[in-house]
Formats: sequence, C-alpha cells, structure tokens
Amino acid sequence: MSKIRKVRYSYLPQQFYDPNLIFKEMEKTVRRGDFTLGQAVDEFEKNFQNLLGVKHAIGVNSGTDALKVGLNALGVGYGDEVITVANTFVSTVGAINEVGATPVLVDCDENFCINVDNIEKAITSKTKALFPVHLTGAMPDMNKIKEIANYHNLKIIEDACQSILASFDGINAGNWGDVAGFSMHPLKNLNVWGDGGVVVTNNDELAEKVRLLRNNGIKNRDEVEILGYNTRLDTIQAVVGNWLMPNAKEASKQRIENAAFYDAALKDIPQISVPYRPDNLRQVYHIYQVCAENRDQCVEYCNERGVEIKVHYPIPLYRQKALAFLGHKLGDYPIAERHSQEVMSLPVDQYISKEEQALTIETVKDFYATH
Ligand SMILES: *Cc1c(COP(=O)(O)O)cnc(C)c1O
Repeated sequence: MSKIRKVRYSYLPQQFYDPNLIFKEMEKTVRRGDFTLGQAVDEFEKNFQNLLGVKHAIGVNSGTDALKVGLNALGVGYGDEVITVANTFVSTVGAINEVGATPVLVDCDENFCINVDNIEKAITSKTKALFPVHLTGAMPDMNKIKEIANYHNLKIIEDACQSILASFDGINAGNWGDVAGFSMHPLKNLNVWGDGGVVVTNNDELAEKVRLLRNNGIKNRDEVEILGYNTRLDTIQAVVGNWLMPNAKEASKQRIENAAFYDAALKDIPQISVPYRPDNLRQVYHIYQVCAENRDQCVEYCNERGVEIKVHYPIPLYRQKALAFLGHKLGDYPIAERHSQEVMSLPVDQYISKEEQALTIETVKDFYATH
C-alpha cells in the first residue's frame, strides 16, 4: 500500500503559492510606518462591512477576542449566565469565562448547531444572552432564537467564526445577533497569516463600545473612556485579509458546490448519514461533516491510503477536563456525545479538485465494501 498523500486536507500551500504578491502590498504599509490600526485596517473593515451587508465591522486580534469583546460590549459579566451549545470549539466557552460569566450548555441538533427546542428549559433569572454557534458553517433556526430572546429579554451574540457568508432566511450570519464574532485563523474560510478576528454589529452604540474596548478604552490621544483590552487587528494581517477578500464569495460558492458533490455520492452509502440540509439555510461548509458507522476505522483506512480525513471533535467540549468545573457527566448531552463518535470531515475547500473528491468518495466506499 502506498503511503503517498493523494488527497490533502490543508490547502494553505496552494492558497499562498506566491506570497510575493502580498509582500508587495505589505511593503506599502511598511513604507508608511503605519503599524497599528491605520489605513489597511480601515480598508479591511469597510470591505468586511460590504461583504456581509453589516453596518459596523471592527477588526480585533482573533476570533476568540471578537467573542470576548462582543460579550463585554453587551454588558455580560460576573453572575450572568450565557446559553451556548455543548459541542463547539473551546473558545466560545472560553470567551464566556473570560468576562466572568457562566456558560450554560444545551445539546446540539443533527446539523451540529444548538437545538433551539431545548433553549427555553435552560433559561434562568440569571440568563443574560443566547450564544448560538454556527458550527461547520451551518446555522440554527435564527428566527426561533430571536423569538426566544425577545420574549425573555435576552441579548444574542453569534459565534460566526466558522460561517462567513452563511445565511439563514437570506440574512447573513452576523446580522442576526446584537453582535457577532468572526475568525480569520489560517484554517477559516477567510484567513490571514496568523491571528485575526472581527466583531460585527448593526448597533451604533455597541460599535462605539467595541472600538473603545479593542484599543485600551482610548477615546483619543489623551483621554481614556473605559478600561478595555489591547486587541487590535494587526495591520499587517489586515493587508492579507484585504488581499483575499475579493475571493471570499467565490470561495464559499465553490465550497457549497463541492459539498453538493459529496452529498449526492455519499447518500448512497448506507453506513454514512448526511445531515439534513434546510432550504432556507445557506451553509458555507467551513467543515464538511457527515456521520459514519465505524468512524475511527474508516478514518484510519482513508488516512492510510493517503486520503486525509479529520475529526471535529473526538472529545465533546462538555467532557473536556477544562470544563470539569461545570460538573457535567458522560451522557448529559447525548447528541453531542454521539457526534463525537460518528462525525468525520472530508476536505471541501475551494482548491480541492473533483478528482480528489472522487478519490475520497471511492476510498470511503472501498472501506465499507470490505468492512
Ligand atoms: C476558530 C473558532 C473560534 C476562535 O477563533 P480564533 O480566531 O482561533 O481565536 C471560536 N469559535 C469557533 C466555533 C471557531 O471555530
């Protein structure tokens, strides 16, 4: 059996095959000596606003910080509870913890987002905000979440880190919540050469507060309005973001097309279950994830044959050691638990070829034909 890699998961070497093009743009920034906020960040924020049709986009240091600053701007802090989903990337819960609030977890649905039917049961007199996570680039029923938030007088913050250009009922991720956070981590759909994040909001007052919070609360050269953080979007990273922004729409279209190709082929494999695909959801497939019988063996089989398949995530967040203080135990979140055993992620990025996808499908089929 050959150990040669035939289908890679990471596309970064392809994406940045010619870094000189971006270096040239950076040179302009260097010659201006414009290293904190400045022109590239201003441009980036305008571009991001236009891309999502949102009133304010404010660049910060990472997706995690976008969520932390967003929560802080909403006034979430000590003694407050924030409702989020049992299986997400750790920083959703990390951000809640950083502002001193308590995460309250709700199980996920078959499309990996929060089960909206279980949210109301989790609301208490301390609940301050609902914090849906648009995991994989899917979104939960945001109309329902808005309805619940309005009825109980709660804020909404979207963890949109995986879902740039996703939409529900034709409204883009980032436009549903009071605030939302996006990530530009190298593995996200719009990425930079390190860390970067964006807070978006349609609320002028919140935007003003976020702008202060990200820059030590400084109003102008001499006056400090509030205590904040240093979490500015790095100017050099904004150059990379600006460079990639014109391709963002095409990249998500390509991912959607690639996902449809997988969906059509995988639905014929009885051991694979493809999540439901609601008509009013535009899922952007940061991750293309299906449930697979005998998952670990299937992933191993494919990887041994040079077809890289990943698992997001083998241990659900609620059972991680870091969250032990919440007192959860095995089985508290049965869907998240089952997903941790069954999900696998196939490469779906905008650079994957149809041949690579076909080989991935064939390898998965071969596994089930022989096991
Ligand atoms: C990546 C990610 C984050 C954090 O983003 P960073 O830029 O890595 O800090 C938060 N939530 C989710 C769901 C993510 O996927």
